[in-house]
Amino acid sequence: MAGTASSAAGAPARCDLAIVGGGIVGLAVARELTRRNPQASVCVLEREAELGTHQTGHNSGVIHAGVYYVPGSLKARLCVEGARELYEYCQQRGIATERCGKVIVATDAGELTRLDELECRGRANGVPGLRRIDAAGIEELEPHARGIAGLHSPDTGIADFPAVAQAYAADIREAGAAVLTGCEVQGVERNGRSLRLTHSHGATEAGNAVFCAGAWADRLAVAAGADPDPRIVPFRGAYLRLAPERRHLVRSLIYPVPDPSLPFLGVHLTKHIGGEVLIGPTALMAGARDAYSLATVRRADLRDTLI
Ligand SMILES: Cc1cc2nc3c(=O)[nH]c(=O)nc-3n(C[C@H](O)[C@H](O)[C@H](O)COP(=O)(O)OP(=O)(O)OC[C@H]3O[C@@H](n4cnc5c(N)ncnc54)[C@H](O)[C@@H]3O)c2cc1C
Repeated sequence: MAGTASSAAGAPARCDLAIVGGGIVGLAVARELTRRNPQASVCVLEREAELGTHQTGHNSGVIHAGVYYVPGSLKARLCVEGARELYEYCQQRGIATERCGKVIVATDAGELTRLDELECRGRANGVPGLRRIDAAGIEELEPHARGIAGLHSPDTGIADFPAVAQAYAADIREAGAAVLTGCEVQGVERNGRSLRLTHSHGATEAGNAVFCAGAWADRLAVAAGADPDPRIVPFRGAYLRLAPERRHLVRSLIYPVPDPSLPFLGVHLTKHIGGEVLIGPTALMAGARDAYSLATVRRADLRDTLI
C-alpha cells in the first residue's frame, strides 16, 4: 500500500482511494479496488462500531437468481453472474449458504400473464434450472402452499450476508488497506485535485472517494455539493417470525407474483440461515433511516421526509 500517513486516531491522513460506508457495497467496492489497483492506498471509513450493521445485516438473506429483471439490462446480467460468483466465494471461504430454491406462486388467473412474463424474463436472463410448475408441482415442492401455477427457481438460495461482509473486510485488510470503524464522515470538500473528508477521527485527504452510505447516501452527496434531489425517504418493512415448531411448514422461499405497480416483490416467506422463517415485509413510512424498531424516531430524518 502506497502513501498512507496516519492521523492520531487511526484514520490515514492521506490515501489514494477512500470508500465511505462499510456495508456490503462499500466493502465489495473496496475489495475490487484493491485488486485492480494493488499499488494504491485504499481505506474504508465506516461510521458504526461494527461493519454491516444496517441493510447488510437487516435483509432477507436471499441470493436472487435473476428472474425479475428486464433481459439485457445490467441488473439482469449482474444478478445472474453475481449469484454464481457469490456461491463460489462463500464455498471458498466456508460461509454458510443453502440452495433451498424459490417458488413464485400465482393464486388466481389474473396473475398468469405476469407469471408468463417472469418466465420469459428468467429464461432470457439464463436463470439456471427455471421451470414452470402446475398446482400439483407447487404442492410437491411446498406441501403447505396452494396456487394454480408457479415458477420454480432451484438455484435461488440464502446466505449469511454479514459473514460475507466480514470476509470482504478480511480480504481488504490482507491486501494492505485500512478498514476503520467508528469513523463518521461529516464533511466533503474539494481541495485542488483531491477531496478532504472530515470525520470523527480527524480528516483524510483522498485522491478519489466512492460513497457507499446506503440510506444516508443522499446526505453525503449534498455534502459533496450535489443537488438535494433525489432524496431518500425511509420506509420500514416489518416481518413476522414463524414459531419454531411451525418452521417445517416452509421448505424453501415462497413469493407471490409481484404487482408491477409497486416497487416491491410482495409479501414472501423466507427461510434464513440458522433456520428462522420470516414473513413480510410491510411497507410503512419510517421515523428514521435506521428505524429497525417503530419507536426509533429522529427529528432530522422526519424533517427531511416532510419538507
Ligand atoms: C428489508 C430488506 C430486504 C432485503 N433483502 C435482500 C435480499 O434478500 N437479497 C439481496 O441481495 N438484497 C436484499 N436487500 C438489499 C440489500 O440488503 C442492500 O442492497 C445492501 O445491503 C445495501 O448495502 P449497502 O452497503 O449499500 O448499505 P448498508 O448495508 O446500509 O451500508 C451503508 C453503510 O454506510 C454507513 N454510513 C452511512 N453514513 C455514513 C457516514 N457519514 N460515514 C461513514 N459511514 C456511513 C452506514 O453506517 C452503513 O454501515 C434487502 C434490503 C432490505 C431493506
